Amino acid sequence: MSPLRSSDHVIVVGAGLAGWRFSEALRRQGFDGKLTLIGEEHHPPYDRPPLSKNVLVGKWDVGHTLLATDDLIASNDVRLLLGTRATSLDAEATTVTLEDGTVVRGTYVVVATGTRARRLSFGAEDEIHTIRTRDDVERLNESLSALAEGSTVAIIGGGFIGAEAATALRTRGFVPIVLEAATRPLVGVLGEDVSLWLEGLAEDAGIELRSRQHITDVTAHDHGFVVSFDDGENLLVEAVIEGAGAVVNTEWLQGSTLSIDNGVVVSKDLMATERIGAIGDVVRFQWDGPLGTEQVRIEHWQVAVDHAAHLAHFLMTGAAPIAPMIPYFWSDQYGKKIQMLGHPRPSDVAQMVRGSLDDAKWLALYSRDGIVTGVVGLSQPRALMLSKILLDTPTTLEVALSLAPWEA
Ligand SMILES: Cc1cc2nc3c(=O)[nH]c(=O)nc-3n(C[C@H](O)[C@H](O)[C@H](O)COP(=O)(O)OP(=O)(O)OC[C@H]3O[C@@H](n4cnc5c(N)ncnc54)[C@H](O)[C@@H]3O)c2cc1C
Repeated sequence: MSPLRSSDHVIVVGAGLAGWRFSEALRRQGFDGKLTLIGEEHHPPYDRPPLSKNVLVGKWDVGHTLLATDDLIASNDVRLLLGTRATSLDAEATTVTLEDGTVVRGTYVVVATGTRARRLSFGAEDEIHTIRTRDDVERLNESLSALAEGSTVAIIGGGFIGAEAATALRTRGFVPIVLEAATRPLVGVLGEDVSLWLEGLAEDAGIELRSRQHITDVTAHDHGFVVSFDDGENLLVEAVIEGAGAVVNTEWLQGSTLSIDNGVVVSKDLMATERIGAIGDVVRFQWDGPLGTEQVRIEHWQVAVDHAAHLAHFLMTGAAPIAPMIPYFWSDQYGKKIQMLGHPRPSDVAQMVRGSLDDAKWLALYSRDGIVTGVVGLSQPRALMLSKILLDTPTTLEVALSLAPWEA
């Protein structure tokens, strides 16, 4: 691939974290052609993690989440088209059509349309809150401000967003009840052992968590909502929040000839075709893990940021980035910080190597076929980061245990 030139026009679709960070990275790496960023939301690019944390707790105004200030937009010379949805892509002609029929013509297109909140089908669907966008949280805060302290809020889903929302609500004096369908929250992500080690956190934080909850409907009544379960039980609450996962935003690419399979399928260089790249939550990419190359789609903040830098580097130099990508995420829930490095499977073996359940501080290694595939920690940020070297190159569990980098 020949590097971008001044005559190129790069169109980025999706004005979220990945789209904005990519725009900044492209300018930083010297691109002086035209750069257009198209976003469905009315807000300039902002950061989502604080929405379910500091913003929901009430510590931060939602404006604090802004990534693209007016000054940064001007200094990066980015043409922002906000409040407009891209409806189709012509991959051959590198044109993007917007919902009002406008056709934006470029020489390269970068798809960064992320994911949206998954909605479950209930009677009161329109009144159930989700936490994905700035507008979602503003609506939720407005509803919460009309409720008395001590009001009960049902949270459907005990995953990362559900747990963070419950924590924030408890801090604000509400009574959240987390309703989880699985035997334990996060079991499908972190596996049996790690989810078991995390099981008591909600209770320790004074939050009620009910597992194996099969909700059949949520309906509105005079003073709130009725959550109905398959065993015939009902729960009366004043508000309902849904944290039921995410759906990838690829519908607008139907008919584009791009390969879509649980995300936009790309090469190692994050390219879907010679002139179409894709980054962030929306992309299914080839990741060089410790046990070989895997096709993965990962919804982590750091992965979106790394993708942005990698693709900008590739488009500006024609060369693959040098540093390997090690997925990382964190979550602040029930007063603790969970962090993970790598991309282990839930079926990988987990072994606690530092701390204990009693301390509510521990570090564990995941391994598969005797090779370390991930590191997960509860309130162990330093030990976790020191262990990153175990994922830089494939490392056996035996070597990892003898090196014990977390003890440094
Ligand atoms: C509440 C919340 C808390 C989170 N907390 C954490 C955390 O603690 N740790 C962590 O690692 N990750 C966290 N994440 C995940 C992290 O925020 C995402 O991985 C990251 O935002 C992905 O960036 P992205 O740019 O790929 O997608 P997004 O941020 O979703 O941006 C995509 C943008 O594209 C727009 N778009 C979609 N379709 C179109 C279209 N057709 N035309 C135009 N625009 C379109 C969307 O409106 C959106 O603005 C959290 C996410 C949420 C929602």
